[in-house]
Amino acid sequence: MSEWCQNKKCPEKKNQNQIRGSKGAKYYQSNKANHWLGHWCSNGCREAWWNEHKDTCINAVGFIDKQVLPLENAWFVEYRYSYNSGVENRYYLRNKLMGINQPITRQQAQTQEQIDADHNWVTIDDTQARELAIRLGLAS
Ligand SMILES: [Zn+2]
Repeated sequence: MSEWCQNKKCPEKKNQNQIRGSKGAKYYQSNKANHWLGHWCSNGCREAWWNEHKDTCINAVGFIDKQVLPLENAWFVEYRYSYNSGVENRYYLRNKLMGINQPITRQQAQTQEQIDADHNWVTIDDTQARELAIRLGLAS
């Protein structure tokens, strides 16, 4: 780990805040890495680094083949906000690969914790959605 931006051309941005040194011996220096970006000061520096090093990164991680998500694992719960829809039909248990778009209740769409938090748009995860589909007899 380094506290400095990992783009070696970071000083070439020539921003005012990068100037150091005394008169006659001034220079630009790298910025500190940004807490949110991790190893770079900005998206521009991250992009420059990535363009130079992406082949090294992908070779280190390794390539994977095509991934698939089969129909029995394609369940999810969708929250659809609509001014016209009542609370009862805002949630849907969906499996597009099976052509299923089943209205469900809020109690089915959310955990008790999610209901207590009163975040309408947060729903159970895809694994729980599949379990719900099995309970409702839509999947086995
Ligand atoms: Zn930078």
